[in-house]
Amino acid sequence: MRPTRVVIVGGGVAGLTAAYYLRRGGAEVTVLERRRVGGGASGANAGWIAPAQAGPLPEPGLAAYGARSLTDRESALYVAPTQLPRMASWLIRFALRCNARDHRRGTQALGQLGRRAFELVEQLADDGVELELHRLGFVVAGRQRAGVEAFLAGRAPLRELGLQVPDRVLEAAELHELEPALADAVTSGVLVEQHWHVHAPQLMAALARRLREQGVVLEEGAEALDLARGADGRVREVRSSAGAHPADAVVLAAGAWSPALARGLGVRLPVAAGKGYSFEVALPQQPRHALLLLEPHVGASPLRDRVRIAGTMEFSGVGDGIDRRRVETIARGARQMLRGFDAQPLEDVRGGMRPIAPDGLPIVDRAPGHENVFLATAYSMLGITIGAPAGEALARMILSGERPAELEPFRATRFGWRTR
Ligand SMILES: Cc1cc2nc3c(=O)[nH]c(=O)nc-3n(C[C@H](O)[C@H](O)[C@H](O)COP(=O)(O)OP(=O)(O)OC[C@H]3O[C@@H](n4cnc5c(N)ncnc54)[C@H](O)[C@@H]3O)c2cc1C
Repeated sequence: MRPTRVVIVGGGVAGLTAAYYLRRGGAEVTVLERRRVGGGASGANAGWIAPAQAGPLPEPGLAAYGARSLTDRESALYVAPTQLPRMASWLIRFALRCNARDHRRGTQALGQLGRRAFELVEQLADDGVELELHRLGFVVAGRQRAGVEAFLAGRAPLRELGLQVPDRVLEAAELHELEPALADAVTSGVLVEQHWHVHAPQLMAALARRLREQGVVLEEGAEALDLARGADGRVREVRSSAGAHPADAVVLAAGAWSPALARGLGVRLPVAAGKGYSFEVALPQQPRHALLLLEPHVGASPLRDRVRIAGTMEFSGVGDGIDRRRVETIARGARQMLRGFDAQPLEDVRGGMRPIAPDGLPIVDRAPGHENVFLATAYSMLGITIGAPAGEALARMILSGERPAELEPFRATRFGWRTR
């Protein structure tokens, strides 16, 4: 049966993009958001649309780096000691994926999905989603040439997919001419031209506005509590703090909160919350490109009159708190690499939890054992990049009943499925 009433849980980029394409496909769509749209990771990120840079988080060498820096609060990757026992199984699975073969496969799968990102974002803009879109390209910059070369080596599978990945490392003089915002300490870099960025909070607001115009019901302050099933086992309604919402199909797009909801259906989702922070700052020299500053592993996205700076991967459980010390660590890393970034105030500080599966790939699929429940989660570091392509493909799957080929690597059963 073609579902006509779809209830989506989660007002982040995963939920809103799915809502957009389901509505275009003719479904009646309700989005339930426990707080406010874009209040999760989707409003707290660097806003990069970066298919030519897409790769899964587990990469060769990261397990060793992680083991060294595991509980170092100053490190770009940090696991809170209290989380270690709870995360042991996830961390082991993650560590096993930190090899060249899995990284290559994952990069190919993400590139295959993400390659439509620009086309779909253009279409969203043409359809009245008023985006603050910057088509400036992207400079990956470091203090050591080896780091820049390693970045390029990891992108090789994307070049094979036809994405524009550079092959030439720029030396200091050329790099500084291209990007005068970089401090003298930065000596190597590459320019990735196929890269756009958006202002993430503004993207979320624009998507929400357009969805409402199109007749999607967007309920903020409505926390989904329970998915009620009928005698045939199909979910019939979602019960939320705002009432009951009848459904022919349900999409769980609740980001880092997805495992808790799925558990109620007897589905175990191995998704961890990788927290990051971002803030805005006014710099005397506005960067000409989006920047990845390699050694501190910090991103910078020039906006109209500010720069949004984002970074860190902190596993400290599911929670909204902001760890000021880690925010300061990001600022300190960026200060070393950006000209004129001194003691300016850090504005609009936000935290968000990236939902991350142990292989670093999204889960976009029917929930195992459930005919009419779908999962759109684990977008990890790439929700803005893959949001539209994943949402479009998922909507096709829900409305046609057939799985699009590009979703094949993102099956929910790939972890050796266990249901309760
Ligand atoms: C610092 C940082 C930088 C990043 N930079 C980039 C980038 O440059 N490019 C990129 O592509 N990606 C980036 N990402 C990753 C990207 O932000 C995420 O992949 C993406 O936002 C995940 O979207 P989501 O919709 O799954 O989760 P979220 O945005 O967290 O949304 C989930 C929503 O579900 C709601 N919810 C939870 N439980 C319930 C419930 N029971 N009922 C109702 N609602 C519920 C939450 O309130 C939340 O709003 C970054 C992330 C971070 C943290």
